[in-house]
Amino acid sequence: MPDPMIEPQAERPSWAIIVHGGAKSIAPELEDAHRSGCLLALVAGQAILEAGGSAVDAVETAIRVLEDDPTFNAGYGSVLNAQGQVECNAAIMDGRTLDVGAVAAVGGLRHPISVAASMLSERQVLLVGHGAECFARAHDGEMCAPGDLAVERPDGGCDTVGCVALDIQGHLAAGTSTGGLAGCPQGRVGDSPLPGCGLYADDAIGAVSLSGDGESLIRTTLAARLIHSLEAVPPGPAIEAALTRLAGVGGEAGLIVIDADGRLDWGHNSPQFAVAHARAGQAARAFTERAQDASGELS
Ligand code: ASP
Repeated sequence: MPDPMIEPQAERPSWAIIVHGGAKSIAPELEDAHRSGCLLALVAGQAILEAGGSAVDAVETAIRVLEDDPTFNAGYGSVLNAQGQVECNAAIMDGRTLDVGAVAAVGGLRHPISVAASMLSERQVLLVGHGAECFARAHDGEMCAPGDLAVERPDGGCDTVGCVALDIQGHLAAGTSTGGLAGCPQGRVGDSPLPGCGLYADDAIGAVSLSGDGESLIRTTLAARLIHSLEAVPPGPAIEAALTRLAGVGGEAGLIVIDADGRLDWGHNSPQFAVAHARAGQAARAFTERAQDASGELS
């Protein structure tokens, strides 16, 4: 007879992955495109994890798919700043080593997340503008004319893309990529490429990726708060606490989380937040609102 006083421990899934397509309002006619775009990216990342690949590779691969999809404001499909220019930001963090690679305010990269991933082996964490382009050229980054990334966009708001993954070795990684906010001043950088603000990953605790009002996320160092909460509580309550703190300064956000035990969850105070997730033993699913995701037991 099992001891009724001992809580059954859920087994950690061998791998898990969650991607998002931005915290914002999604017009009803664009919901399918958001769900299917997130699913496509998820499946690409999932294939890496199932084959025994690393969480870092899964995150980069999933975000490359999102950067290719003009539904999302990242890579191809980025919004324009006040000068009519594309300026992308992206970052990736390896929870195994705490290495971070990030690029910001850069226009000519076909896949900003891959240039950020190339920086993981460098001492520097963040390169901006022309310096980031020079680094990309020197490291076989795929270059393009900044205008090649722009498309006609019917929607606005926040829609950074992001991904968090746990691999079968037990390592975590997080990533973000964004075209920033439409009409913002030239050179403006939000939370997305800043560890502790738009993303964080630490194998001992968990990994998180955020979207939303970048200035509010920076002021509250929301990714760092989320990570600290995860040291004490499961992802669900940690997300709730982070959104409560954000409410104190205002601003919309969406958050995705996997903790060191492979517990996965997500939340938002924006009207919608496109998300897809999967883990070993649980098929891929996509949603545009947390309330649609019946897995209340996610955490
Ligand atoms: N957080 C991003 C930024 O402020 C925007 C977004 O999430 O879409 O640049």
